[in-house]
Order: sequence, then C-alpha cells, then structure tokens
Amino acid sequence: MGLDSREYVYQRFSEFYKDPANAVPAPPLPHKREFGYLTFKEKFMVRHRRFEQIANFRTVLADTVPSDVYHSCAYYENPDFDMDKKGWIGSDVVFDIDADHIPTSCNKIHDEFRCVKCGFEGRGLTPEECPCCGGTKFETKIWACDLCIASARDEVAKLLDMLEKDFGFSQDEVRVFFSGHRGYHVHIESEVVRSLDAMARKEIVDYVTGLGVAVLEKEDREQGARRKKKLSKKFNLHNYGWNRRLKVGMQTFLENASPEDLKEVGLRNKALLESKDTIIKRAITEGKWESIQGVSVQTWLKLAEHIREVQAAKIDTVVTTDIHRLIRMNGTLHGKTGLKKVEFKPKELQTFDPFTGAVAFKKGKVKVLVSDAPEFRMSGETLGPYKNQTLELPVAAAVLLICKRRAEVVP
Ligand SMILES: [Zn+2]
Ligand SMILES: [Zn+2]
Repeated sequence: MGLDSREYVYQRFSEFYKDPANAVPAPPLPHKREFGYLTFKEKFMVRHRRFEQIANFRTVLADTVPSDVYHSCAYYENPDFDMDKKGWIGSDVVFDIDADHIPTSCNKIHDEFRCVKCGFEGRGLTPEECPCCGGTKFETKIWACDLCIASARDEVAKLLDMLEKDFGFSQDEVRVFFSGHRGYHVHIESEVVRSLDAMARKEIVDYVTGLGVAVLEKEDREQGARRKKKLSKKFNLHNYGWNRRLKVGMQTFLENASPEDLKEVGLRNKALLESKDTIIKRAITEGKWESIQGVSVQTWLKLAEHIREVQAAKIDTVVTTDIHRLIRMNGTLHGKTGLKKVEFKPKELQTFDPFTGAVAFKKGKVKVLVSDAPEFRMSGETLGPYKNQTLELPVAAAVLLICKRRAEVVP
C-alpha cells in the first residue's frame, strides 16, 4: 500500500471513529474485559487495557484510529494486569467460522500464498506448513467472494441448528455477527456457559465438528461382514442429537441423490436408488437396517460416515477452546476490508447481505488505479472486474481494494 493510499484509508477510519453515529456498542460487563487494538500505521498490538466506561474506549478509538479492535471473550478481576495475574472469572463461548478454514471451489481462483522463507507460491487454502521448507509464515492475497460468504453461512446454519436443537440455547442467547471479512462469529454470553473450562469447551467443539461420532464400536465395524445379523442389532440410531442428524441426513441424501452422488460417497449399490421409498421407510423410519436385500449394514455405515462429514460444522476449533481469546469488537472496522463487524438476528442468517449491511463508508467517490480485481458487489452495486484501470469508485469499494492491495489512490 502506497503512502497516499494508506493516509487515505486512515482518514476514512478516523472519520468513522469520530462520528457519534458509529459509537461502538458495549459488550456485556465491559469493565471486566481486556481491550486491545492494532495501531494503524505501526501495526503494533496494544493489549491489556481496561475501561470502566465504554465511552472512554470510544474516545481512545477516535484519538488513536486503530486498524483492528478487539476485546477478550473472558471476564477478569483485573483485566489490565499481566496474563497470569488477571484473575480469570469466566468467558463467553465463541465460535469463529471463516472461509479460511473451509475448502471452497473459489479459493483456488482468488487466493494466493507465498512462503516468506523460501518463496514457494501456490493457490487455494494457505497450508499450515510450507511443503518445501516447512516454514509457517506466508504472505497471502485473499479475496472474499459471494461463494466464500455462502460457504461460511452454510456452516453457521449447521452450528446454529445444533446450538438450538441439541444444546437447547434459545435464539435470544445466541448472537450472530458478520466478522467484517469473510466469515461469521457466534457468541454465547449467558452466565451458564461462563465457567466452562477449556476441556468442557473442547467437548463442545468435538460435538459440533462431529468428532468421535461412531454409530458402531470399532470391533463391530471390522467384524461387520461376518456377523451381519448381530451387527444389525447394534446399528440402531435413536432420535436425538447426532443420531437424529445422521438419520435425517441419510433420508435427505437418498431422496435427492443421483447415481453420481452415490459414486462420490463410494457406493455402487443401485438398489439404494431404485426402491428408495421402501428403503427409507423400512430402514431409516422403522430401524430395520438389515431388512433390504443387497443393502448391507456396511453400506449404511459408509453413508452415515459421509453424512457425518456433511453435517459437521467447520468451525475454527482453536478459537472456541481458548479461554483467554481476544475477539474482534462489534461495530468496529476490519483492517483488511474496511467493512464492519455487525450483528444480525439468527433468523436473518440467509437474508443478511454483508456487502450491504456491513458497509461503513456510504458517501463519496474517489479516483483509484486498480491493478487487479475480480467482479464484486458493494452497497447493491456490482463492480469490476478491473485490470490496470484508473476510475472513480464509491469510497467503500475503493477502501476494500486498497486494503486488499489491489488499488492505489490517484492523488
Ligand atoms: Zn517455504
Ligand atoms: Zn470465494
């Protein structure tokens, strides 16, 4: 980012935080939380700040103009003390769902990474370790397209369904946010979850991601072919939690599957589709899994395993288990996009459009030189694709492209 462009974005961020209309909402019990932010120009992380009044923090935001703003999910006796002396009281349960962790068909098109150590380059999901040198630092150029957002949204839908139906949280207890980049945050701030330790949170993560969901014990799976009769008695799904999810998932799959879908799952059993109504009724509804000729319990196991993968919610597991985690603050700007983290109602998940609802800069235009940008949407307008073009863009679109290092302001 050139100096002029950086100054331009800084000025827009500054205006945003100085405008009382953008006053950031306070999280519950702000005086018990740690606040932190990344300084705009030096990219220095300021942490361990405590504010008795949220108004004081708003003043800090207006004065310092950070690029990214965070607060702890945890509550502390002394949020401004060193980590080991803070006095942990409890923590919200937080889920992070980000296209960074979901293999989408679009990341091969718009995401690039380059190993800082050896220069190895590639497209798609950034690996954890460089396949050439084992390095773990990468320069990335990533984009957020509608498909990325839609993939993340599908995962959120699964998560919300589990939180409501399997864990019993009400819609009022679950807060959903667009993260400001290409994902979502789900917060549960009820008192009942605050005291959960890291182990308990790991259990929640395992449940949500379907880890360890086994419809049969390992030895039974291995002996499957030989002890068919006995096995069918053990393959018995009840109507709650993951068991129900597997049953509903298998039924939906069979109702809609093409022969190609079956093949993809590794099933070549044509009988499954030819008489699917009977199969669904006898096996899934009545639980007589072994009663259909040519459809073995092994087939059901294979299908159940596929459904488990499909139904699991792909969350960033580290975020949920970390009881000291900092999370982006609601109502603040994302330094990589200029979009806001914003809350919406769980029931609005399918209709909330980040490229409208999270737009922070709604007025004005600015002349920019765009080096390279795919087609994108902003405030209801479709823009791009652009390649080495000088043009006037709405401020929100220009800020996005500058933050993504795809454009520079033309002075
Ligand atoms: Zn490398
Ligand atoms: Zn995408």
